[in-house]
Amino acid sequence: MSSQPSIHTFLAWLKTPAQYAKGVGPKLSALLVKLSIHSFEDLLSHLPHRYLDRRELVDLAKVEPGKNRNILGKVYAAGEVRLGRSGRKAFEVVLSDGRAFVVAKWFRYHKNFWKQRFQKDKSFLLSGEVTLYRGELQMLHPEVYQLEDILDEEKILEEKLGWLPVYPSTEGIRQSTWRKVMKELLQSLAQELVETLPLKLSEVLKLPSLQESLLTLHQPQASLSNEFLLSESNPFRQRLAMEEAFYLQLGLQLKKQGRRQEDFAEALSIKTNLREKLLATLPFELTADQEKASLAINQKLGQNQAMNLLLQGDVGSGKTLVALLAALQALENQKQVALMAPTEILAEQHYQNFKKLLKPLSLSPEILTSSTPTKKRQEILAKLQEGKSLLLVGTHALTQEDVFFKNLSLVIVDEQHRFGVRQRLSLKQKGLSPHVLVMTATPIPRTLSLSLYGDLDFLTLRHLPKGRQPIQTRRMWERDRPKMLSFVKSKLEQGERAYFVFPLVEESEKLDLKAATQAFEELSKTFQGFGVGLLHGRMKSEEKESVMADFQSGKIQVLVSTTVIEVGIDVPEATVMVLEHAERFGLSQIHQLRGRVGRGHQKSYCILAAGEAKTETARERLKIMENCQDGFKIAEEDLKLRGPGDFLGTRQSGFPDFRFLNLLYHGEVLSQAREWVLKLLQEDPNLKQPGHQMLKELLRHRWQGKLALAEVG
Ligand code: ADP
Ligand code: MG
Repeated sequence: MSSQPSIHTFLAWLKTPAQYAKGVGPKLSALLVKLSIHSFEDLLSHLPHRYLDRRELVDLAKVEPGKNRNILGKVYAAGEVRLGRSGRKAFEVVLSDGRAFVVAKWFRYHKNFWKQRFQKDKSFLLSGEVTLYRGELQMLHPEVYQLEDILDEEKILEEKLGWLPVYPSTEGIRQSTWRKVMKELLQSLAQELVETLPLKLSEVLKLPSLQESLLTLHQPQASLSNEFLLSESNPFRQRLAMEEAFYLQLGLQLKKQGRRQEDFAEALSIKTNLREKLLATLPFELTADQEKASLAINQKLGQNQAMNLLLQGDVGSGKTLVALLAALQALENQKQVALMAPTEILAEQHYQNFKKLLKPLSLSPEILTSSTPTKKRQEILAKLQEGKSLLLVGTHALTQEDVFFKNLSLVIVDEQHRFGVRQRLSLKQKGLSPHVLVMTATPIPRTLSLSLYGDLDFLTLRHLPKGRQPIQTRRMWERDRPKMLSFVKSKLEQGERAYFVFPLVEESEKLDLKAATQAFEELSKTFQGFGVGLLHGRMKSEEKESVMADFQSGKIQVLVSTTVIEVGIDVPEATVMVLEHAERFGLSQIHQLRGRVGRGHQKSYCILAAGEAKTETARERLKIMENCQDGFKIAEEDLKLRGPGDFLGTRQSGFPDFRFLNLLYHGEVLSQAREWVLKLLQEDPNLKQPGHQMLKELLRHRWQGKLALAEVG
């Protein structure tokens, strides 16, 4: 047929709509779309999520309790049953092979569909854990395979296969269909395939070829073990992950390189007059991390290449001060600085803080938010344009069209993960080519930052200032609530303050609000005489501010709120943080919230009020919080429990979906990829060598339109 396969024909093949794969067609392809499968490449990347060993199908009579049992039998009886007196229902299927029984149970099911499916005497294969319950063999929510599937299969795969691959599927696509389609596709692939990783890399790292990897994972040989096949660290999965990691790093590094060449910025010469003056007024010394970060930033600002830097540091690590020191360098050069915060409360707090700190230096900041009165706003805008005002703090109101700066040279974004790329970009565009400093308190685990921010410089404040007391964190179950309330009361009596925070219920902002409002009423009674305030996202900003101000001044001592207080608020007298329904918060989020207390001299507490008796995992998660104060460790745990997209809030993260690269298991792969890419670009910075054309093509194919990745812009 065709001569030598080329990278072009291969890429074209990969992009072919799934519909044209043998055995697919329009009807099936419509179903595939539900699984985000659009092309041949998508199909090939759809790997089995388990493998059934047909040699291990057991006689029911010989079944012993344990995991991963594959049970073959006929339906003896099926139907809905009532469980005890609770009124809860379950669907039960009694499966038999004529000698013994097993009872399969589902608590969630579609009754009519289930009834129709499990007709008497039909044959099934159930797969899952078998337990002994009241003398009966029982399976809870096993996977179900209709037996015809398997029988069809026998015919098709009579060959050498001991394994039956099982694909993640959707209603209407049978396992036998998956297997047929994949088999054909893999055959056709063999004629088109071009190896997509540099040969030398595969050789040195001893990685199998693309073809071998796909064949092994889709149609494994009988000799491999199930555990091996599913392990993220088997060489075949590693090979596929490496390809993603390699092109990710290649894209990021090229982008970083491009920026280096393009982004000329005005150098802010290093002057230390203001810096030293400010430091002299502080009642404390900079931490070593702050010192280091600050000096590194001074250096970068002093160059005529735009700084693009992410400063990450745990809650309370003192990022604000580092930012202010950076700002001073610009101010000393008579250049303007803008600092953007995600909420008005936070902007106001930065403003007050800066005002106080800058007063001895005879400097004063301005603040601009959407609630700045019109007249004041006009004044500020005029001063900005004339370059009379040098330091402007605010919310996204800073990005409004009529805000003009005379010479904006440094843009600072606080809690950057709260902003979308566009907002950050539009602030940056207010200057010619300003330096950019973004800060985040959500510590990003190393594997993630390598892949996400591989094109950025980043600095970390790893340690908290000395003398911080650890925040005592305890889980609390419902029955101990009265005790907790009287504990809080005793703290209020000493003039301390407490937060009660309610989680965000994703589906309904209204529900949240209801929970918080109700609790507000109850707590107002409980803490009569201490002043109780309510804060939530739907309040007008003046209302919010006045509540915050009252809390800051001590007029109210208890603040009931939704998660709007998550970022940055600094009230030193607050010593108790009660998180209601703590099991619903992400771990990093709990850590952030917990960071709102422990800011003063008194001992502080975080109480994790978990509603109902919870699952083992929920308990485990909360236990991590009791024992660990290190935001980075917590973030790692959180990442493990939730996965990267969720961890970062996929929507705004612009994080590419990886098919094979798993940031939890492939840290090593990522750093290897990075090393190879750096070496490669050193030899051939623009991929001009003929042998590297292919890499360019593949890079374009992989990341077309997606490389806004970590654009902090
Ligand atoms: P975050 O990194 O969470 O933004 P902040 O910048 O708000 O933390 O700092 C938290 C608190 O720590 C502030 O009250 C700040 O004044 C104080 N702080 C900052 N640096 C130091 C230091 N080197 N020693 C003691 N306290 C510090
Ligand atoms: Mg902060």
